[in-house]
Amino acid sequence: MKKVLILEDEVSIRSFVVINLKRAGYEAIEAGTGMEALEQLKNHPDVGVAILDVMLPDIDGFEVCRNIRATDKQIGIIMLTARSQEMDKVTGLMTGADDYITKPFSPAELTARIDALYRRVGGDQAVDLSLIHI
Ligand code: CA
Repeated sequence: MKKVLILEDEVSIRSFVVINLKRAGYEAIEAGTGMEALEQLKNHPDVGVAILDVMLPDIDGFEVCRNIRATDKQIGIIMLTARSQEMDKVTGLMTGADDYITKPFSPAELTARIDALYRRVGGDQAVDLSLIHI
C-alpha cells in the first residue's frame, strides 16, 4: 500500500487528514512532533509523500523538511501551513518542499495534491515492487 506520512501536532487536523488518506487508499503514518516524523521516516523508508505542518512544538516543519532533504531527494514533500503569505512559500521552496496546502483545506484538495505528487515521485514504481513479491 502507498504510504503517506502526516506530521501535525493538532490531533483534530491530523485525524481529518488520516481519515481522508485512508479513504483515498493510502496507508497513513502519523507523527505529532518533528523528531517523531524523522524517526517514523527511518522506520518506513517506503513513504512516498510526507505532509509537514509548519508550526510545531519542537523543530518547525521547514527544519524537518531540510533534515529529510539532506538524505532523501526522492520523497515528495507537501507543507501544511496556516500562513498564506508569499514569503512563507519562498522559504518552503528553498528548503526543498514540492507543494503547499494552506489551512483550511478540503479533502478533495488534499487528496488531489497527494495523488499528483505521488505520481511525480514514482508511486508507480512502488506498485511494481509490490507485484514482484506476489
Ligand atoms: Ca501545528
